[in-house]
Amino acid sequence: MVTIRKKLCPRGRYYLKCPYERRASRIVVHNTANDAPAINEITYMINNDSEVSYHYAVDDREAVQGLPLDRNAWASGDGHGVGNMEGIHIEICWSLSGGERFLKAEKNTVHLIAYLLKQYGWGIDRVTKHQDYDGKYCPHRTLDLGWQRFLNMVKKEMEEAEDMTEEKVKELIREELGRRARAAESKETPGWAKEAMDYVRRGGILKGDKNGRMRPEAYLKRDEFAQAQYNRDHRYQTLEDIPKWASEAVGELIDRGVILGAGEKDRVALNMSQNQLRSLVWMKRYVDQKTAAEGEQRDSEGGEANLI
Ligand SMILES: [Zn+2]
Repeated sequence: MVTIRKKLCPRGRYYLKCPYERRASRIVVHNTANDAPAINEITYMINNDSEVSYHYAVDDREAVQGLPLDRNAWASGDGHGVGNMEGIHIEICWSLSGGERFLKAEKNTVHLIAYLLKQYGWGIDRVTKHQDYDGKYCPHRTLDLGWQRFLNMVKKEMEEAEDMTEEKVKELIREELGRRARAAESKETPGWAKEAMDYVRRGGILKGDKNGRMRPEAYLKRDEFAQAQYNRDHRYQTLEDIPKWASEAVGELIDRGVILGAGEKDRVALNMSQNQLRSLVWMKRYVDQKTAAEGEQRDSEGGEANLI
């Protein structure tokens, strides 16, 4: 990546620096043959009164744009030829002395060119050098180091950018989400949440998955939240609501007057949660057993049976 800063030539100076509106068809690479940062090169280019101009200067820190890309520049010494008229001209800074900052500037230029090629849908064949238009030995230091080497850097940058296709990104996201879901499923309930987890499980508010796991770190979706809320609030109102396993016992308790209510038997207002219902049935079973056992004992003692 390279930062691109705009410091565009004022319209009033277009007549001198970029008089023609055009459609760009190529990139033209230069070296400044100077030792100054990009912002200075661009400022100087805009302000001097010669018919010399270019679209970008790139140094070891940033790329600075000085001309709009839909206008020409005076840079490649070919008059109204395709270089000046159709080229996007890029100056690589710090080329006089070379060294680390020049190499970094070259790298930044590689990023900028790869970005532009992608923007325009162009291939590597659109990357040309000043020398191609008037024979001047420019970009001098880039040529010294090897033009093909520079083109290879651009090619590599483009390939790396293309590797990350949309499909690939989606695949990575899918893999990561799957990993997280599996990790969440296999987690045990942490100690601090055990009591609460037992509470919602016993109360039938949250049920485990088909393997009985409560998946303490899995997300609760909106429909699952609604179901949990429903589970918590659902209460049995009348005898008709009562599930089969409990209806007989509840019916008996109503008959005996243990559960009181106004109106017909199946209209008795119960307003009972599943937990309360379960306790009630257990309690009834316990009492019934105890009563039966006491009755047996009384029988064997010759006392009166069936007090209830
Ligand atoms: Zn040049």
